[in-house]
Amino acid sequence: MNNEVQIGRVEGKVVFITGGASGIGRAAAYRLAEDGATIIVADVDPAGAAETVAGVESRGQKAMSLRLDVTDEENWRQGVASVVETFGRIDALFNSAGIYVIADLDKTSLTDWNRVMDINVTGTFLGMKHVVPVMAEHGGGTVLNMSSAAGMLGFAGHTAYGASKGAVRIMSKDVAMEWGRKQVRVNTIHPGYVATGMADYGAAEANTTLDELGAAYPLGRIAQPEDIANLVLFLTSDEASFITGAEIPIDGGATAGSVVGG
Ligand code: NAD
Repeated sequence: MNNEVQIGRVEGKVVFITGGASGIGRAAAYRLAEDGATIIVADVDPAGAAETVAGVESRGQKAMSLRLDVTDEENWRQGVASVVETFGRIDALFNSAGIYVIADLDKTSLTDWNRVMDINVTGTFLGMKHVVPVMAEHGGGTVLNMSSAAGMLGFAGHTAYGASKGAVRIMSKDVAMEWGRKQVRVNTIHPGYVATGMADYGAAEANTTLDELGAAYPLGRIAQPEDIANLVLFLTSDEASFITGAEIPIDGGATAGSVVGG
């Protein structure tokens, strides 16, 4: 097997990443930069975003940080305009920003419900609304929206989060239908637990450890952010040019079956 890392798979592409200040967004920024992309790091956390920008630059690529709250339409308007002014276009959008709340149905406050919907659903909608037409004007592009295993299957304690990630899944297919003829591809990815602060929170809520969580997966572990970044790279590259409207699990087999047989 040839394990040589291919370089240049996204050479020269301008990639806009929300939630790029940490976790999966940052890992994707680094992986894409290693393969030649210019990275826009959009986040509410300017210190984290600055760190990601430095990491991208240390890989020899250009980067720009944007203080952008994905729920704020004016932030999107101004952010997209400044990227177009600086780099001339946007080739790819990775909507990774999101929050995770675990609570039983009767303990889910309306405030938490609205916060999860605002960031995970409205944030993804606004990103597509402002970036997709810019891509279309420049001959097309690719959108990758972050869903979850919880956007495919039901889990206890996941009413708000699961609803938000299910909405992302279908909304992405709708946009794929609408903008395909303009050569804009839209897909969702569906990780199980990934070793970031979110998985730490999930383990703490379940009173367990990441290793114990991992033991329940068919592959016997949870994902590392780099596992997800490799999929982001592929879907952003032209190698994926005939993939749109797709939902792609990346969960070590977790959603492939059930522990209950019969
Ligand atoms: P993370 O907390 O490390 O990263 C989330 C990022 O989003 C942070 O940098 C945060 O500042 C940013 N963010 C939050 N609210 C924002 C807002 N209003 N505007 C702009 N940025 C905002 O978590 P992560 O694990 O990297 O999660 C990234 C995505 O992956 C999320 O959408 C999450 O739901 C999804 N996901 C994570 C896991 C997991 O186990 N880690 C599993 C499945 C899906």
